[in-house]
Amino acid sequence: MIPCADPKAQYLAHKDGIDAAIRRVLDGGRYVLGAEVAAFEGEFAEYLGGGHCVGVGSGTEAVHLALAALGVGPGDEVITVSHTAVATVAAIELAGATPVLVDVEPGTYTIDPARVEAALTPKTKAVVAVHIYGHPADLDALTELCRRKGVKLVEDCAQSHGARWKGRRAGTFGDAAAFSFYPTKNLGAIGDGGAVFFNDKPAADKARLLREYGWAERYVSAVPGWNSRLDELQAAILRVKLRGLDADNAKRRALAAVYRRALEGFPGLPAERAGAEPVYHLFVVTHPERDALKAFLQERGVGTMIHYPMPIHLQPAYKGRVAVRGAMAVTERAAREVLSLPMFPELPEADARQAAQALASFAALPEGK
Ligand SMILES: *Cc1c(COP(=O)(O)O)cnc(C)c1O
Repeated sequence: MIPCADPKAQYLAHKDGIDAAIRRVLDGGRYVLGAEVAAFEGEFAEYLGGGHCVGVGSGTEAVHLALAALGVGPGDEVITVSHTAVATVAAIELAGATPVLVDVEPGTYTIDPARVEAALTPKTKAVVAVHIYGHPADLDALTELCRRKGVKLVEDCAQSHGARWKGRRAGTFGDAAAFSFYPTKNLGAIGDGGAVFFNDKPAADKARLLREYGWAERYVSAVPGWNSRLDELQAAILRVKLRGLDADNAKRRALAAVYRRALEGFPGLPAERAGAEPVYHLFVVTHPERDALKAFLQERGVGTMIHYPMPIHLQPAYKGRVAVRGAMAVTERAAREVLSLPMFPELPEADARQAAQALASFAALPEGK
């Protein structure tokens, strides 16, 4: 069986470094928010191109803290997409704000800037743009729109560590960016973790306060905060994997190229917007008979997943509660048609070719290359 994702293969590929890092932390005796977290924050900020990084407990918390640090709270509307991990929307509600969901663009499945503009109200305080599947949203249009309207832009980079837009790293365009280090992400821990990134130091300092009880000094809260700390083990492991991130992303792009070559002529290939350098967190194809295709591939030993099977505005927890602005045609069709093919840096290219050939035979494509 070719798995869709394989976090253990990631561990094995970096085993010596990770084992040494774990040993170092265990022997060090400091287990949360210590020297490893501080070092990782510095190294990740430098990787992104400068600015300020704050390690936190998860990607959900990263979105929550990004919004809270920017002053988003109760009574504010935050525009985002329905075609995303539920965490994006959950985090907006954690910040006390009201999620307003709009449709995505066909092909890239990123937030549609025209839909954002149409959904703006005097209550709109922020836009959360999700670089879904590792593909940057239209950051030219979004930064221009948000600047013109005086609205904060938060980039949800949970699937796009290292992606670039016009040569610059995704995450550095908005007022804040949120990263998840869930094990299967492009930069993954061996457990939960996340980070918020800011170009602006005062906002980063605010996030630093909020992530630990609002403490300006130990046991003295300057503002009401909570606990969303990154632990030393995860930070030490992330430092090892960060060194391999560009190489791992290059492998993902090479696998994407294998898929594209083998599936030439297949109409359901993912789009790449000019100016974007995606990092293929997922390689997502579409097919009108998605469920039959999934079963067909499963029978031929190809594991696939669906990201995501139900738009958030239709899920039991959110239906009728979150605001929806405009039609959701692209989103609702995506939920019926998307299928994620095997994609992780350690996936052998021969396995990708085998997966592509199975798909090609279902779609009755001529023999691929
Ligand atoms: C994974 C993910 C999150 C949440 O990250 P966690 O670390 O699981 O909390 C948020 N947004 C997107 C787009 C994600 O893919």
